[in-house]
Formats: sequence, C-alpha cells, structure tokens
Amino acid sequence: MASGSNSLVWFRKGIRIHDNPALEYAAKGSSYLYPVFVIDPRYMEPDPTAFSPGSARAGVNRIRFLLESLADLDSSLRKLGSRLLVLKGEPGEVLFRCLKEWDIKRLCFEYDTEPYYQALDIKVKNYASAAGIEVFSPVSHTLFNPADIIQKFPSLSDDMYGCFDETSEKNSGRPPSSYQSFLKIAGQPSWASSALLTTITSLPPVGNVENCGISNVPTLQELGYEESGQDELTPFRGGESEALKRLRGAMDDKEWVAKFEKPKGDPSAFLRPATTVLSPYLKFGCLSSRYFYQCIQDVQKNVKSHTLPPVSLLGQLLWRDFFYTAAFGTPNFDRMNGNRICKQIPWNADDELLAAWRDARTGFPWIDAIMVQLQKWGWMHHLARHCVACFLTRGDLFVHWEKGRDVFERLLIDSDWAINNGNWLWLSCSSFFYQYNRIYSPISFGKKYDPNGDYIRYFLPILKDMPKEYIYEPWTAPLSIQTKAKCIIGKDYPKPDHESPYDLQVHEWLMTQFDKIVVSHDTASKECKNKLAEAYELNKTRNGAVNEEDLKILR
Ligand code: FAD
Repeated sequence: MASGSNSLVWFRKGIRIHDNPALEYAAKGSSYLYPVFVIDPRYMEPDPTAFSPGSARAGVNRIRFLLESLADLDSSLRKLGSRLLVLKGEPGEVLFRCLKEWDIKRLCFEYDTEPYYQALDIKVKNYASAAGIEVFSPVSHTLFNPADIIQKFPSLSDDMYGCFDETSEKNSGRPPSSYQSFLKIAGQPSWASSALLTTITSLPPVGNVENCGISNVPTLQELGYEESGQDELTPFRGGESEALKRLRGAMDDKEWVAKFEKPKGDPSAFLRPATTVLSPYLKFGCLSSRYFYQCIQDVQKNVKSHTLPPVSLLGQLLWRDFFYTAAFGTPNFDRMNGNRICKQIPWNADDELLAAWRDARTGFPWIDAIMVQLQKWGWMHHLARHCVACFLTRGDLFVHWEKGRDVFERLLIDSDWAINNGNWLWLSCSSFFYQYNRIYSPISFGKKYDPNGDYIRYFLPILKDMPKEYIYEPWTAPLSIQTKAKCIIGKDYPKPDHESPYDLQVHEWLMTQFDKIVVSHDTASKECKNKLAEAYELNKTRNGAVNEEDLKILR
C-alpha cells in the first residue's frame, strides 16, 4: 500500500484494542483509518415471533452484551483519536459501499472460521482483489490456526487406533478427533514466546464520513427493544474494559489459577462462580485468547506447581482451540446428517418435551433452575450445562441434540458456533465422548454440591421455602409441608399427577411422560441407554470407533 492512503478495519469479533493485529496493521502508515462495525438487522433487530425476547438469531442478553462491547470499543478508540463507525445493512453490501466511497487501499479484518464468515469473506476478498485493495486477515481469535493443526496432523488411522506417531509424514487433511492427540500436535503456539502488543498510543484520524449513514452505537431501545427490569438481564457487562478487569481479578489470585481443576468446580456457585466467566468476552473477542494464555503462563512460571491440561485453566483454552479445529475441519459439523464424526442416533423431535425443558418446567428443580439461569443470565457453569444437555438428550428425554443446541445458541451470551456444537456432540455421546452409561442424575448431582438447594431457591423462587429434604424432589414432600412452603406441587410447580396451572395440552402430555420421568428418572435413563446401545451397534463403523484416550478424561 502506498504510504499515506486509506485503511479500513472491519470489526466483527475481535472487539478490542489489545492484541489486535488487524487494527495494528491497518493503522500502519495510513493517512486515514476507518474503524467499522456493521449492524446486520437479521442478527440485531427484534423478532416478535421468537420464543424469547431477542432477534431471529440471538437473545436480548447477548445483543445487549454486544452493544456494550461496541460502546466500550468506541470509547477506547476515541481516546486514541479515532471512533467507531457504525453502519446498518447486509454486511457485504455495506462494506463494498464503504470501500468505494472512502477510496480504501487496505482492508483488515480478523480471520474467522465460522461457515457464515467463510462464505462472506470469500466474496469480500474477491471484491477487494478485483478493486486492487490489499487484504490483511490474520488469525487472532484462537491460539492456533486450525488449518495449520489439520495440516500437521498425521493420518486418521493412527489417531483412531491409539498408535499415534508424531513423526508420521502422512497427512489426513482431517482434524484430530481427541483432545490428547490435538495437544500432541499443537505444542506451544508460535507467538507465545514473545510479548503481544497490548497497548496502542494513537491511531490515524477518521476521514470524511458525511452522508454515509454513520451512526453512534445504538442502545437496545434504539434497536426497538423494550426496557427490561434489571433482574431479567444478565449481570455480566460487555466490553474489553470489563474483560480485562475480570481477567486481572482472576490472575491476581495466583493460587486459584495454579490449582484450577475444572471437574472440581461447584456448578451451583452463582454469587462467586467457580470459573472465570470470561467466555462471553472470548466469544466476542473483547478478550484475546492469546493474551489470556500468556497471562496464565506468567502465573504458572511463578508458582511451585500447577495443574495441567485437560483440567487446568490453560487446558480450558486448549479445549476451545480443540473444538475450533474440529469444527473447521469437519463438514456439516453442526448437524447429524452428513457429519462423518457424528453417530447416527434416532433422536425424537418432540417439541413439547423440548418446550418443557427450554421453559424450565420439567419438574426437576435442579434442571429447571439451570434453565432459568440460562434464560436470565445467558451463562451457566460448564457442569450445569452438562446436566441439562444430558437430560435433554441421552439422559432422559431423548430429544435431538440439534434442538438443544439451538436453544443454547440463542440464549447463551457466550454462544459460539464451534464450541457449542462441539459440546452438544460430546454431551449427547454423538462424538468425541462415548460413555453413554454415565448419566447425570437430575436429583443427586446438584445435591452433592449444594445440599441446601440455595441455587434452586435463587433461580426458582417458588421453591424458596421448601425444606432442604425435599428441594431436589419436591413431589415427595407431604402436602402439609408444601402448604407451609407456599408451593403446591402440581399447582405452583409442575408435577404430572396434580392439576397443573400450565397449558392443558402440555399437562396431559406431562401426565403420560412424567410418570416415566419425574417419578422415575431410573426408567427413562435406562430406556435411553438401551436406545443408545442399539444405535451404537448400528454405527459400528471405523469412524465411530471409541476413542480410548478421551474415555480416560473426566470432565
Ligand atoms: P473457564 O473454565 O474459566 O474457562 C476459560 C475459557 O476456556 C472459557 O471461557 C472458554 O473459552 C474455554 N473453555 C472452557 N471450557 C470449555 C469447553 N468445554 N469447550 C471449549 N472451550 C472451553 N462455551 C462457549 O464459550 N460457548 C458456547 O456456546 C458453549 N456451549 C456449550 C454447550 C454445552 C452443552 C456445554 C456442555 C458446554 C458449552 N460451552 C460453551 C463450554 C463451557 O461450558 C464454557 O466455555 C464455560 O462454562 C465458560 O465459562 P468460563 O469462561 O468461566 O470457563
């Protein structure tokens, strides 16, 4: 690019200043720098037909989180002599207009592995190439470039049969199917030994943007959403400033970082969650996963001993990259049909069962409380996600994992295409993990961590006065206790054999279903196991072979 010409940095994820190679490169030698974010109405505008407040694609919590992140970015850019230019419309079309209007010679944006961006970016790159515009699209959302891992990975058969050979010259063109083989191939990321650029002191000014339909970052109300009460919204605020504050808070407790062991965390801890709650910031790139990685390494260097992957905090970031690599290298990763790593299982498509699960009326307080936390906060602990995903699919209801995935995709503030699909494949024993006999009990699992049921009382206030002896199985409480607790089961909280205040049809259906489920989780889970066993028998192909390495990992 001729020095002195115009650059455009296109923010999609990567909503940050620190460790942002696209922004850094765009700023170099430019007379004018145009920092752009395009609001795609399909993603952002209210959809009154959706099952919960939000757009067609995202719940209102995530949209608010994104707007807060954009406002924070705008404020940081202004401190550097720039600002965020917000435009509205179909992203490709808006971008082409801007490139032309502002005579852009260099276009910079973070590389994105999601299918949506893969398709869009091909069009953008073609347009830019025809117009003689330089494109710089670095990999900075993940620790590794998934394509490099796939390129380095030896043949499929070596991985599948546990005789993995690092020196193998053969290349499968496929991603590692186990975390352990991913670790072996990945090693240390190439950038990790030198310090990342975390501060920028100034940026080139923004050129003339009159008559281009530029706006400030809109508020939720300006996008057409109604004002919501604070208790209906997530307590987590979006933005890079908040991300870095949260990161520092976690890293300051060196002992906690050094001893972090994911499976030991308490999924019911909500006032002070057992994990970092950095996932929404990583999702939008308000926090660089590479910077996070370096901070953890700094802590680890200065302590006597620390935990290791897969359970350590560093190990969690590697899980993220593992799923990104698997998703990038697997066609149709987000569905059962046509997905070569996904077991074919005859799931049901029962929308009523799905709705009972989604709307927190299964009658199992532990499961329902988690689903309320999802609706209200858009975030739950990893093991809580395990419980509800297992319950919906292979544990009790036998509903298709894609349906649960869709609900998570909409409601999570950290909703991430690769990680969400990867974990649903895992939890439903469709891929990666195959121990379908290990089912989470919707009663005893939560009780182990929270015998008093404080988590349930908080997210399901209707049960707040239920004595702890009954809070996980309120249908077993004598009527006198239910009356005293001001919660009659079957009236105030679901139970199949009492008159229900819920929709009559659903009630009738509950009558038939819940004598299997509420009354006997044992029966439902046994049936599920039998169905899985049959399906596995039918799936006995090489691709469906059990991966011994992953069976050893307790997550
Ligand atoms: P920490 O334990 O503090 O971990 C730090 C970071 O490591 C996380 O922020 C996340 O980026 C990464 N990480 C941790 N666990 C995993 C994991 N199992 N897989 C991949 N990356 C991981 N996570 C998402 O970010 N987006 C999703 O859409 C998502 N959907 C999920 C769906 C299901 C059914 C399940 C079981 C898990 C899902 N997860 C998802 C993974 C995990 O639950 C969250 O990343 C984690 O709970 C976020 O909390 P944290 O930031 O406090 O995690």
